[in-house]
Amino acid sequence: MTFESIVGQERAIRLLTRILENNRLAHALLFTGVDGIGRQTTAKAMAMALNCLKPVGTSACGVCRSCKKVISGNHPDVIIVKPSGTFIKIDQVRSLRKTLRFAPLEGGRRVIIINDAQTMNLEASNAMLKILEEPPNDTYIILTASQTTDLLPTIVSRCQQIPFRPVPVADIAEALGARSELDADAATAVAVLAKGSLGRALSADAEKWMDWRKDLLERVGLVSSESTHALFVFADTLARDKDRLQDALDVIIIWFRDILICRFHPEKILNRDCMEEIQRKSEQLSVDDILEIIMAVFAAQRAIVKNANRRLALEVMMMRMSSAFRKGLHPQGY
Ligand SMILES: [Zn+2]
Repeated sequence: MTFESIVGQERAIRLLTRILENNRLAHALLFTGVDGIGRQTTAKAMAMALNCLKPVGTSACGVCRSCKKVISGNHPDVIIVKPSGTFIKIDQVRSLRKTLRFAPLEGGRRVIIINDAQTMNLEASNAMLKILEEPPNDTYIILTASQTTDLLPTIVSRCQQIPFRPVPVADIAEALGARSELDADAATAVAVLAKGSLGRALSADAEKWMDWRKDLLERVGLVSSESTHALFVFADTLARDKDRLQDALDVIIIWFRDILICRFHPEKILNRDCMEEIQRKSEQLSVDDILEIIMAVFAAQRAIVKNANRRLALEVMMMRMSSAFRKGLHPQGY
């Protein structure tokens, strides 16, 4: 749980290391980014670094008494506040304020980690603001949130912001390969679906995920030859699987992205387990056709985010895809 063990966040870690080296740590930090990209692990690594008894440079040793307590969640001065149910409640922030009236128990630096700070309602946010306005000595507060716009501007303005980026596919695949029994191609396929979140990749049921993707891509492959009726049935199937719909559209976009870059940079293909099929498709379709298909899926994705009728958006997408496909497969007769 030291800085070195955090995958794909070199920039954020560099920023934090520099802040520690120059002794310019603000009393409040805000880690922003999507779930599962290492914000909470980094917050703990920070708490360790600030209290380590034998630090290596600015990083924690990971083995001293203090580090061990942070790792096991038993350090009395490293306090983690997380949503109780859906929200961080006013009572949780109040009890935190009470704790802060006393000096750190171990005499080191106290670190308060507020996970999912965006779940504080207005009341809790205002109470938190009071803490941020007058932080006690030797107390550091790390808030994690998906984006700054989810928080009160007055809270954001009191924090030093550290943005966490989605982790690159190659880094996730490598970490997955090292921590599971997946081969390199499967690890890459799962990494693609994890959309920049190592946490998501690690917690995924890889086999189930791969099967789902395979079925989906098989159906996409049939779009060129299917009747309008069958296309609408496919659109309807996708529309009903609401929870996985955006994932499904991502998979389709990445598939065609692979077909597109296959001619120029085959080494950058992400669906590496389907190289032959991708190659074949890339010979059948023109660049224009592929772009038309990708644009059709993007358009559906955007419309759905904006709450358009899902089925209608997907039907239009299917028709556009099918027309681009047929043009590619029957250039003269269509
Ligand atoms: Zn240590």
